[in-house]
Amino acid sequence: MMLNIIKPCAIRATIRRTGYVNKRFFMSFSYQTPRTLFRSCNNNNAYHQSKYIRSFNTGVKKTKQLSLPSRALGFLNRPAIRYTIRIGRMGFLIVGIAGAAYAYGQMELLNDPEGHQSAMFYATVCQEGLTKHFVSFWDSDNLKGLAFHMDVSAYCYEIDYKNPGKYLRKQINEKASIWQCSLKAQKVFKRVKSGALSLFEDRVKDLEKKLSETPLSDTFDRSSLMEELNDAKVKRNSLRKPWNLVMLSNRSPNAFVHGFLPQKIFIHDSAMYYFAQNEDELALLLGHELTHYLENHSRDQVKLTFMTKGIVMVLLSLIDPTGGVSGFALELFLPYIDNFITAANSREHEHEADRIGLEIVARSCYNPTKAMKLFTNMKNFEIQYKSTTANLTTKATLNMLNSHPLSVEREKDAEIRAEEVGSLYMKNCSEIRKKAWGSLFK
Ligand SMILES: [Zn+2]
Repeated sequence: MMLNIIKPCAIRATIRRTGYVNKRFFMSFSYQTPRTLFRSCNNNNAYHQSKYIRSFNTGVKKTKQLSLPSRALGFLNRPAIRYTIRIGRMGFLIVGIAGAAYAYGQMELLNDPEGHQSAMFYATVCQEGLTKHFVSFWDSDNLKGLAFHMDVSAYCYEIDYKNPGKYLRKQINEKASIWQCSLKAQKVFKRVKSGALSLFEDRVKDLEKKLSETPLSDTFDRSSLMEELNDAKVKRNSLRKPWNLVMLSNRSPNAFVHGFLPQKIFIHDSAMYYFAQNEDELALLLGHELTHYLENHSRDQVKLTFMTKGIVMVLLSLIDPTGGVSGFALELFLPYIDNFITAANSREHEHEADRIGLEIVARSCYNPTKAMKLFTNMKNFEIQYKSTTANLTTKATLNMLNSHPLSVEREKDAEIRAEEVGSLYMKNCSEIRKKAWGSLFK
């Protein structure tokens, strides 16, 4: 009978520890029902007894139905565990795919850096077949001299769509708009680039001063300053090198830089009739694009797009019964989902490019007050565009207007900024004028 007194308490202890007890374990020691077993135990509290019996019964039920592997599977099937596994799996998948793509890109780049760049250039100038002709030149080129050596008065390149990656050099009229726009852009860009160079030379000096004033013990501040300084130096040096301008004959007004094509600015000739109608306005357009490159906007945009894509995919996988497969498909076919998220960031970049662009304008001795009329022209174009959608319905126009803040807003900001940089313009311009006059009398 001793057995009967000890056993229930042993079972109760097991129940307390594990929540339930194996039926076989219980049967091997006693042939009594759980209720009689507990009655013989020291603790006669009815409440506790019923609680233990309840948990005992559920325990027996569970062990009867599920074997150990199925119990493990059951544990994994809990919603929280399932979602955690799913997020982890998606994360691994994203990192894996990105890693493979990166490795592939790196490999391709290492094998053929020039081919890689030219393929990217080709894809950029073609723009889904919207461009037929372009003029590509360096800011240091003597365009007229080059044409003269070719025995023509002006030339451009025609994209040979039958032979991908190939261009045909074509003689054009000297008065052709693409040629005239190229000459004008080259002239203005030289000054804009020197303005940007003065900005970055000052930035390097400022950072060097700050670094020398930061105590050596302040390692965190020093390392972030060093990083900033290195970046500013890289950008300053890139402004000392020649830059490539590409004038594309394209009906939708736009200008852009490409994160993977360094030291290149692409301009649609139509941007010069609709937006930048004089040299001051063109200076702001070029200063704005130059800022996108110098402030790493396209690199940041690529990073952000990638991150949002990842987050959107994980979120989609959570609400999706196929475990992320349809989320993947959705993400592939609906790339516009993350456009909403990245557009806000791109607007911030636009504001920064406008702000620094105007400073570059002032530093290159163009009039910032006149230059900001660029936004008035853009605003007018928007109004005209909306009323004549049928004439100008091109994807590029739509894209540009979506990712850029409203021109009315930009116009207002630019007005304030033009006043701020006004003094800089007066100072720089008088110095430049003095130099120009000085050189005349030498
Ligand atoms: Zn922009």
